[in-house]
Amino acid sequence: MNLKRLPLHWKIIIGMVFGVLLGFLMSNFGQFGKDLISDWIKPFGTIFINALKLIAIPLILASLIKGISDLKDISKLSRMGGITVTTYLITTVIAVSVGLAIVNIIKPGNSISEDTRIELLNAYEDDADKKREAAAETKNSGPLQPIIDIVPSNIINAATDNKNMLQIIFFSILFGISMILIPEKKSKPLKDFFNSLNEVILKIIDLIMSFAPYGVFALLATLIVEAPKWDLLKSLLLYSITLILGLFLLIIIYTIVVRVLLNKSPNFFFNGILPAQLVAFSTSSSAATLPVTMDRVHNNLNVRKEVSSFVLPIGATINMDGTAVYQAIAAVFIAQTFGLDLSVTAQLGIIVTATLASIGAAAVPSAGIIVLVIVLAQAGIPEAGLALIFAVDRPLDMCRTVVNITGDATVSMIVDKFVSKK
Ligand code: ASP
Repeated sequence: MNLKRLPLHWKIIIGMVFGVLLGFLMSNFGQFGKDLISDWIKPFGTIFINALKLIAIPLILASLIKGISDLKDISKLSRMGGITVTTYLITTVIAVSVGLAIVNIIKPGNSISEDTRIELLNAYEDDADKKREAAAETKNSGPLQPIIDIVPSNIINAATDNKNMLQIIFFSILFGISMILIPEKKSKPLKDFFNSLNEVILKIIDLIMSFAPYGVFALLATLIVEAPKWDLLKSLLLYSITLILGLFLLIIIYTIVVRVLLNKSPNFFFNGILPAQLVAFSTSSSAATLPVTMDRVHNNLNVRKEVSSFVLPIGATINMDGTAVYQAIAAVFIAQTFGLDLSVTAQLGIIVTATLASIGAAAVPSAGIIVLVIVLAQAGIPEAGLALIFAVDRPLDMCRTVVNITGDATVSMIVDKFVSKK
C-alpha cells in the first residue's frame, strides 16, 4: 500500500491512534514518561495549532473580501446574512432543547454520591476559580457590549488577537461591500490582489494540513499523559455518556437534514467533512479548525465559495451547537448533583442563556466552561459546581468542537441551497 496516496483523513486517524498508544505507553513510566512527552512530543502539537491559528485571520480577510466583492449586489448579501443568522439561531435552540431533554431523562447528577461530590469540588476548586474570574470579565459589561465589541476601533489591533474574529469579519464585510459600491474599473486591482492572496493562503493551508497527522499524533499523546486519574473520571462517566449521547443526536439531526432537505447522502457529507472533524477533535478549537472546514466545505461539499467564505467564519464564532448542548446538560447535571430541582421556568431560562452563551463563547479550547458560569448564575445553580465537571472537560470539549464545526458545515449547505445562484 502506498502511504503517500492514502486519503488525508486516514493519515490523520493513524496519527491519532499512534498518539493515543504512545500516550498510554508513556503513562506507565510515571514522571519520566510525562516529561518525555511534554519536552519532545507536545511541541509538535503546539506548532500545528499555532500554524492553523496563524492562517485564520489572513484567511478570513482574503476569502471574505473576495467572496463578498464577487457578489453582484448588496441585496444578495443581506439575504444571505438573514438566512445564515436565522438558521444558526434555530440550530442552537434545537441543540439546547435536545440537551435539556436528555439530561432530564437520564438524570446523571443523581448518581453522584455526597463523598464524590466533595472530592471533586476539592480537587478542582482552583481551576474552577480561574474560569469564574475569566467569566466575571464578560459578566460585568452592559447588555449591548457584545455588539460594541464587533466594531473595532483599530484594525491592526483587531488583527493581533484571534479572539477578535468577529471584528475582522466586520471589517472584511465593510471592505467587500465598499468594493461592490465603487466602479468596477477602480476595484479591479484590489480584486486581483485578493484573488491571488486567497490562492496563496489556500496553498499554505494545504501545506499545513500535510503536517496534520503528526500534529494530531502529538496532541493526543500529550492529552493521554496529562489526563486525570481514572477514579475521578469514573464517577463522571454517566454525565459524559449523557453529553456524548446529546452530541450524537445532533449529528443524527444534521444527517437527516442533509438527506431530506438537501438531498445529499450521509456518505458524501461525512467523507467531505471528516478531516475537519478530526482536526476539531484534536485541537478543541473551531477557530483553529476554520481553515480546514472552509477548504472541505467548498472543495468537497461543493458549497459555493461566496457562501462558505461568509457563513463559516461567522459560524465558527457564533454557532456552537455542541457547546449549546453541553451548557444545558452541564448546568442541569450540576443542579441535580446539588439536589436542586429546577422549575420549568428555570429550564426555559437555560434555553435563552445557553443560546446566548454559546453565541458568546470564543472558538477556543475550554471557552464553553467559561461561559457556563453565566448560565449557572442565571439559573441560580451554585457556580462552585464548575469544579465537578472539570476532570472530564477536555475530552468532552474535543467532542463538542466536532459538533460545532459539523453544524457550521450543515448550515452552509443549507444557505448554499436557499440563496439563489445568480
Ligand atoms: N472548544 C469549543 C470550540 O472551539 C468551544 C467550547 O469550549 O465549547 O468550538
